[in-house]
Amino acid sequence: MKEEKTHSLPSFSAYLHKVFSFRSQVQTLSDSRQEPDISPQSVFLALFHAFVFRLPSLQQLEAELTHSHLQQWIQAERGFRDDTLRYSLCGFDLGPLEQMLVDANRRLKRNKALNPGRVQGCLVAALDGIEVLSSYSRHCDSCLQRRVKRRGPGGTMEELTQYYHRAVGCQIIHSEVKPFLAVEWLQPGEGEETAALRLLTRLPKLYGSRFFDILLLDALYAQTPVLELAEKVGWEVIISLKQNARDLYQSAIRLFAQRKEDTQIREERAGKTYEALLWDESNLPFSLQDSRPLRVVRSEETLHWRHYRQNQLQPKVTHHEWIWITTLNAQAFPAAVIRRLGHDRWKQENNGWMDLTQHWAFKHGFLHACRHRPKRGQKQEVANRGLAAVILVLLLAFNLSSAFVHCHSKLVRRYRLSAVAVARQLYFWLAKAPPSIRAPD
Ligand SMILES: [Zn+2]
Repeated sequence: MKEEKTHSLPSFSAYLHKVFSFRSQVQTLSDSRQEPDISPQSVFLALFHAFVFRLPSLQQLEAELTHSHLQQWIQAERGFRDDTLRYSLCGFDLGPLEQMLVDANRRLKRNKALNPGRVQGCLVAALDGIEVLSSYSRHCDSCLQRRVKRRGPGGTMEELTQYYHRAVGCQIIHSEVKPFLAVEWLQPGEGEETAALRLLTRLPKLYGSRFFDILLLDALYAQTPVLELAEKVGWEVIISLKQNARDLYQSAIRLFAQRKEDTQIREERAGKTYEALLWDESNLPFSLQDSRPLRVVRSEETLHWRHYRQNQLQPKVTHHEWIWITTLNAQAFPAAVIRRLGHDRWKQENNGWMDLTQHWAFKHGFLHACRHRPKRGQKQEVANRGLAAVILVLLLAFNLSSAFVHCHSKLVRRYRLSAVAVARQLYFWLAKAPPSIRAPD
């Protein structure tokens, strides 16, 4: 048999079905429409594949649905327009979608896909917030708002109300495949830490276990309720420390100023040399009100690198300071490991949300403030769940595509293909496919 040189949509589909029971999972999905022409399954599959192919917009998806084989692939009787997508997704049932995400992640863990890259045998997750969309004009019942100054048409400054949506997500970050575990939306008037606590409380319920071992957090979450919850669930934490945890920050700075570093490291990575002096102190009280003992690690770093200036490579030196608090013990997790994990949280911004923003058409106002929604009973419109539904479909597409690329594909390993290149191959397969091809049922 001739060896395949490119990925095909049937091979992707067969992988999803075999490993994640994808087709039977899709059958559990539902929305609020009464006897629709186009099933919720087809709507889901259309949007799912739009994300898998990295289509740039929903207009593009609409175009694909009129003239390509996508209709047959997603088992729709006919093509349909973006108003059908909106109408379905606005009233989509989020429970089964989220369950699908959870089941896929549990399967990844059971299949040991999350084993490579573990840190001293531990699975590592990080929490981060992201703004999903913002607008000066369109808004809905659950928009957050803020006042923003901007320069008006005549050059004068004006102050306007800006509407936006923000979510907090939790993602596994130590392994090559980095699945998102869950997402939680900020409600009007609440802070990011409130949504984060809700997410962290929900995680063990969703997954039936603590699922991962170490949680990396931003300075914003250096708060007693977060530490209490982590202790209750059994998560170890590493939290970057800034001035907002004032008592601990100042006592750590004072203490470390009086003594020489505990250890030094030097590493070369991607043409850059990192030299770090590390201080490490256990049993510092968290705050005046909460005296629980925490370990503090400080890294004073000098970074040597070269950059082009006037067409010449010039050496450049920059200095950085990082401080983290952690519940991990110093024997099993020396300061150098804490430093690396602390920097990994920052990498999440590059790999996780950032990847979604740059390569997955993540920031778009699709479905925002959609007024045309299915009604429950005689008159009341269902709550607008469109944005939450779209983001769950996106995270499913992200997790399952990453699993295909990193855990399954031999071609990726052999030819060092990027995830974007694989997405293009799957899309081009569809463009080339004969019209009679159907997804196996
Ligand atoms: Zn809104």
